[in-house]
Amino acid sequence: MSGDTAAQWMEPGDETQIVDRVVQEFTAQFGYAPAGVWSAPGRVNLIGEHIDYNGGACMPFAIPERTWVAAAARPDGMLRGVSLQESHGDVELPLAQVQPGLTARLPESQTWFGYVAGVPWALADTGEGITGADFAIDSTVPIGAGLSSSAALSCAVALASDALADARWERLGDTAEGRIRLAEACVRSENEIVRASTGGLDQAASLRSQEGAVLVCDFRSGESFTVDMGLEAAGYGILVIDTQTTHQLLDGQYASRRQACETAAERLGVQVLRDALPERVTPADVDEAMGDWYRRSGESADSETSRRLHHVFSEMERVQAVIDLFEGTPDADRWQRLGTILDASHASLRDDYEVSCPELDTAVDAARSAGALGARMVGGGFGGSAIALLPEPLMATAATRIAEAFAEAGFAEPRFLRAVPSQPGRRDR
Ligand code: ADP
Ligand code: MG
Repeated sequence: MSGDTAAQWMEPGDETQIVDRVVQEFTAQFGYAPAGVWSAPGRVNLIGEHIDYNGGACMPFAIPERTWVAAAARPDGMLRGVSLQESHGDVELPLAQVQPGLTARLPESQTWFGYVAGVPWALADTGEGITGADFAIDSTVPIGAGLSSSAALSCAVALASDALADARWERLGDTAEGRIRLAEACVRSENEIVRASTGGLDQAASLRSQEGAVLVCDFRSGESFTVDMGLEAAGYGILVIDTQTTHQLLDGQYASRRQACETAAERLGVQVLRDALPERVTPADVDEAMGDWYRRSGESADSETSRRLHHVFSEMERVQAVIDLFEGTPDADRWQRLGTILDASHASLRDDYEVSCPELDTAVDAARSAGALGARMVGGGFGGSAIALLPEPLMATAATRIAEAFAEAGFAEPRFLRAVPSQPGRRDR
């Protein structure tokens, strides 16, 4: 079976052409020209999975794939939208009808519009949004692949809504603090309007990343800074493997993990699990926190909650270890060590948090056999994507090897993209 499988690569596309196309789509749909075009990227998370909602720090960065929104304000309180990724035509809804749980009440063919309508709703709550608008959407972010097409969409809509709102001195999109507020509005929209549980990582990555850098985003303090890993200069790259599989239609599994963490935090007497560890986390701190948990809860090390907790604490330590790798003096084996940490993260997500699946495990194993220094699943899990840290010259053959492994296992054909740290949300025209 091997030897004749070609790897399918996704291309970010020509940005000028995409902007032209989304302007044309807007004009054809609504009969007038848009006021502007805004875009926001999808993301991958280098390390720090399933810990945003536990108050931990994550290390995401924006990928080259983006979602574009051509938009114009309307004075009549209507929201209208059309997406080139949705074949059912346009959706129309008064902003006044946007309420928590909206998505569940929309017909199936229109549920995507909840991601759009929820943003001006959340911004209106703080008096910062538009009163109505038309939106035309186009995207190169694969949808439902764990690369956060949902945040790319809502963050692009947020930037458009902010820019089109009635005259204000300052646009939220122009300042770091303002972007935190826009990201919060997107989180509220996704949690309350779509009722898709999200911890904030995706929106922070899409609005607060920096080109060429990894964002370190602390979800307890709200603070962030960037780290330039020097990945490309060192001759390495990050390959994204989209397994083109999702095993969960709804995010009940995500919600149950989140619930387990909240319950454990309560039993430990802390607000969020991050509070059970000291400021700088070492492996010894993880052992100590687990020991405290066993004593207080009476649970054994292999109970489900103990394993969930062990993932969260150990992943928080791995984030600290990666920050240390790139903050200190460059160390010759830092890339090997990063690879080892990525591998440990995958094992933890697979065995302790139990959010992996055969496709993700195959992607990770095949990547390693093809020369990856380390690999792990990213995002919520049960499908979606994995990342692999590879020496640049091995990138193409690794993709082919992974595609072959998928064909041999009888899985859907995977797709690949190169995760180059890219620009955050911005105005394009
Ligand atoms: P992910 O964010 O990992 O891609 P989600 O399930 O969180 O997956 O979000 C995917 C949903 O977001 C889609 O089902 C659709 O409702 C909406 N969406 C994302 N991108 C677009 C787009 N370009 N046009 C219309 N809807 C979109
Ligand atoms: Mg999403």
